Amino acid sequence: MFATCKTGLGLKQSIEQTSAYLESHHTHTTQVHNTTHPNTKQQKIHSIPPPRLLGRLPDCAIHQILLFLAMEGGDTTSNGGGEWLRPMDTEQLRECGHRMVDFVADYYKSIESFPVLSQPGYLKELLPDSAPRQPDTLDSLFNDIRQKIIPGVTHWQSPNYFAYYPSNSSTAGFLGEMLSAAFNIVGFSWITSPAATELEVIVLDWFAKMLQLPSQFLSNALGGGVIQGTASEAVLVALLAARDRALKKHGKQSLEKLVVYASDQTHSALQKACQIAGIFSENFRVVIADCDNNYAVSPEAVSEALSMDLSSGLIPFFICATVGTTSSSAVDPLPELGQIAKAHDMWFHIDAAYAGSACICPEYRHHLNGVEEADSFNMNAHKWFLTNFDCSLLWVKVLSGKFVLRFAVGAPLTEEQHVDAAWKLLQNEASKVLGSM
Ligand code: PLP
Repeated sequence: MFATCKTGLGLKQSIEQTSAYLESHHTHTTQVHNTTHPNTKQQKIHSIPPPRLLGRLPDCAIHQILLFLAMEGGDTTSNGGGEWLRPMDTEQLRECGHRMVDFVADYYKSIESFPVLSQPGYLKELLPDSAPRQPDTLDSLFNDIRQKIIPGVTHWQSPNYFAYYPSNSSTAGFLGEMLSAAFNIVGFSWITSPAATELEVIVLDWFAKMLQLPSQFLSNALGGGVIQGTASEAVLVALLAARDRALKKHGKQSLEKLVVYASDQTHSALQKACQIAGIFSENFRVVIADCDNNYAVSPEAVSEALSMDLSSGLIPFFICATVGTTSSSAVDPLPELGQIAKAHDMWFHIDAAYAGSACICPEYRHHLNGVEEADSFNMNAHKWFLTNFDCSLLWVKVLSGKFVLRFAVGAPLTEEQHVDAAWKLLQNEASKVLGSM
C-alpha cells in the first residue's frame, strides 16, 4: 500500500493540483496583502530584514516548521566556524506573526477547495535526510508548507469533512492557542503557574455547572475537574484509580481477578487502558449492545455477565457507560448501570467524549440523567466544543478526604530548630483548614 501510494497517479495528481492551486492562490494572497496594508506599514515591513529560519534547505518543510517554532527564526552570526542562533526580536515577531495570521486566514478562506483526504507515504522523498544547518526565510517556509505539507494534510476543519467525528476548532480557539503558545506555561503544579491551575479549576467548574453535574464534581466539594490530553487518557486515569481502590480493598494479589464491563460499542480506548493497567485480557467483558434499542447496552445483559463472574470467584470492579458511542451514537442507560455499579461497589465511569457537549443544551441534558451515580465523567471539548485539539475534560468524585504533605528535610544548613518552626507553622495552618471545614 505504501509503495502504491508513493508512486500512485492519484497522489501525484493531487499534489500537482494542490500546488497549482496554491501557487495561483499565493499570487492572489500577496495582492490582497498589499492592498490591505497602508503603504507606510508596507515600507516598514520591508525595511525589516526578513527573519531567517533555521533550514536553508528549501525542501525541508517539517523541519523548518519545528525549528521555526523552536528557534524563533533566529539569525545566524559566525562564531569561529560555528554558528549562533539569535532569537527573533519583537518587531520581527510582529511581522512574522501578521504574515502567519494572513496565511491561516487565507487557508480558512480557501479550505473548501482542498481535497479533504490526503494519502500517506509521500513526504520522505520530498525532504532531506538530515536536519538543515543553515537558516532560511519565512517565504521559503511558506512555500514549503504550500507545496509539501498541505498536500498531505487531511482537512479536518473542511466543511466537506464527514469522517470519524467532528473535531472542530474555531477561529476564536485558534487565537486562544496563539496566546497559550506564547505564554508556553508549564502547569504541572500550582506554583509553576497559579493562573493556569486556577483558571483550569474555575473553567471546569463552569462546565460542570453547564452540564448540571452533581455537586460532588465541583472543586469546592471533594472532587473536581482536570484537563487531560484525550479521552483515552481520561479513561486510563479513571481505570487506574478504580484498580488501585479495588486492590486496596481486595489485596494486591487480586489483580488477576478484576473484571471490566463495557458494551461492544465502547471506544477501543478502554481496552487499551485495560492493557496498560494490567487488567487480564480475559477479564475484559464485552457485552453485546442491543440493536433494537439504538445500540445501547442492556442492564440485564450486564447483570447476567456480572453474576457469572461472581460465581466464578472473579471481582467485578469497573463499568464504563457511554453517552454517544463513536460508531452508533448510542446512549447507555446510566441510571440502571449506576445502580449495578453501586450494588457491587464498582467504579462507574461515563465516557461522554463525543456527545457530552450536546448535553449542555437543555433538550439533550436528559441523556446525562444517572450521572449522579458516576465516579468519573469525561467529555472532549476538542470534539464538539470548538476548542483546539487536544482538550479532554475529566471530572472525578473519589477522593478520600486525606491529604498528604511531603515535608522534605534535606538542606545541609537545616537544624532541628528549623524543622520545629516549620512543624508549628504546619500545625497552625492545618488547624485553620480543619476549623473551616
Ligand atoms: N470515547 C468516545 C465515545 C469517542 O468518540 C472517542 C473518540 O472518538 C474517544 C473515546 C477517544 O477520544 P480521544 O481521541 O480523545 O482519545
